[in-house]
Amino acid sequence: MNGLIMFTHTEKDTLTFAKEFSFTLKPGDIVALHGDLGAGKTTFSKGVISSFSSVLETEVQSPTFTYLNIYEGNLVIYHFDLYRLKNEQEFIAMGFLDYLGEVDGICLIEWPNRITGLLPKGTQHIHFEHLEQGGREIHVH
Ligand code: ADP
Ligand code: MG
Repeated sequence: MNGLIMFTHTEKDTLTFAKEFSFTLKPGDIVALHGDLGAGKTTFSKGVISSFSSVLETEVQSPTFTYLNIYEGNLVIYHFDLYRLKNEQEFIAMGFLDYLGEVDGICLIEWPNRITGLLPKGTQHIHFEHLEQGGREIHVH
């Protein structure tokens, strides 16, 4: 998918979009989720995680303090939230670099700008933006 723009009006729309997007994902894919607090990155992650596992959307929480949650289903999903990460060095020190080349799973990364220099070529980028009317604009690159 290239240069797609979507408008979602509710949380449910974003979940639906995430589930559809999941069909395009394959092992080894890395998806960088950009956007401010509350823009919908975790909502999108919930949709993807619940597509690939028996985990319910309501059970998914962003790993704000631990940086990484791992979900095992049809595929392994590595869900990162790097909001609190200080720098790329910290990411490496935590031993996370291995996951960016993980062939058996899919990486979803919230706050990917914390590790811009570490993201492999081929990383997919999705940008979430608040709209004044309340919905969200989603760009897929
Ligand atoms: P982030 O992970 O980017 O900080 P979240 O997904 O945790 O954002 O939070 C998004 C919040 O905005 C949720 O409370 C959700 O209910 C609400 N919301 C409202 N409209 C939308 C929309 N169109 N898409 C996603 N979330 C929405
Ligand atoms: Mg989040």
